Amino acid sequence: MPRGIDRSSHKVKWGQHFLIDDQIIEKIVSYADITPTETILEIGGGTGNLTRKLAQLCYRLVVVEADRQLAQKLCSIPGIDVLHGDALRVEFPPFDKTVSNLPYQISSEVTFKLLKHPFTCGVLMYQKEFAQRMVAAPGTKDYSRLTVCLSYMSRVKVLARVPNTAFNPRPAVDSVIVKLVPTKPRFEVLNDVFFHSFVRALFTQRRKTLRAALLVAAQLLDVQAMDQLIAKLPQHWLVRRPYELSPEEIATLSNDSFELHEAQKTRVQQP
Ligand code: SAM
Repeated sequence: MPRGIDRSSHKVKWGQHFLIDDQIIEKIVSYADITPTETILEIGGGTGNLTRKLAQLCYRLVVVEADRQLAQKLCSIPGIDVLHGDALRVEFPPFDKTVSNLPYQISSEVTFKLLKHPFTCGVLMYQKEFAQRMVAAPGTKDYSRLTVCLSYMSRVKVLARVPNTAFNPRPAVDSVIVKLVPTKPRFEVLNDVFFHSFVRALFTQRRKTLRAALLVAAQLLDVQAMDQLIAKLPQHWLVRRPYELSPEEIATLSNDSFELHEAQKTRVQQP
C-alpha cells in the first residue's frame, strides 16, 4: 500500500489502481525512451509512482489529475506541473510524448483527445480487452469502430502484459502496455466528422449484411440516395458484413456516402 493512501479511500469512479511494481514502472519508462529535451504529459498521476521516474528524465512533466487530494500531493514532487482537473476537459499543453497508466473508464475518449494533438508517441496502459479492440484484424470479434478510427490516424502496438499484482488495489481486469504513434491519415477520408459518424453507424450493424447496414447508416446520417451506392456495389460485396471490411474499404464507402450527402444538400439549396 503506498504511504499516505488508505485502501478505503481508493476511488472506484476514478479507476484508482496504483502501480506498485518498480520493474513495470521501469519498463514503461524505458519503452518511452525519453530524452532530456522532451515535454511529457501524464494523465492521472495518482500517488506519483510513475510520475517521480518520469520527472527525472524529461525537460518538463505535466501531470493531469482529477482527484484534488492526489493533485495536491503530486505538487510536492519537485519540478513538475500539476493540472488539477478532468483530462477530458482541461486543455493539454504542447507535449512530445505521453506516458500514462490511464484511468480505464475514459480510455476511448482520452485516446481520441490525445490524437487531436501533435506528439511523437504514447506509452499507455489500457485494460487488455480494450487494447485487443485497438489492434484487432478485420473479421475478428474484437474488430470494431475503435480499431477502424484508430487505424485512420495512428499505429498501435501492444508491448507487454501487466499482471494485476502490479497494482494496488488489484483490478479485476488484466492490463497491457501499448505504444500509440500518431500518423498522417493512412487512407483518404473526405470528411473526418462524417467518417466517424459513418463508422459508428455501420458498426451498430456489425454482423448484418452490408446492404442492410448501409440502409441503416443512410437513415442515421440522412443520406437519401443510398440506393444509388448500393446499386453500384457488386453483389459479393453486399453480402459481406461490416466487421469483415478493412478500414480502407470502410473509408471508401464513407467517402461515396458523403458525396451523396453533399449532392443532396446542393439539390435542396437550389431554387
Ligand atoms: N499513474 C498512477 C499510477 O500508475 O500509479 C495512477 C494511475 S490510476 C490507474 C488513474 C489515475 O487517474 C488516478 O489517480 C485517478 O484519480 C486519475 N483519474 C481518473 N479519472 C481522471 C480524469 N478524468 N482526469 C484526470 N485524472 C483522472
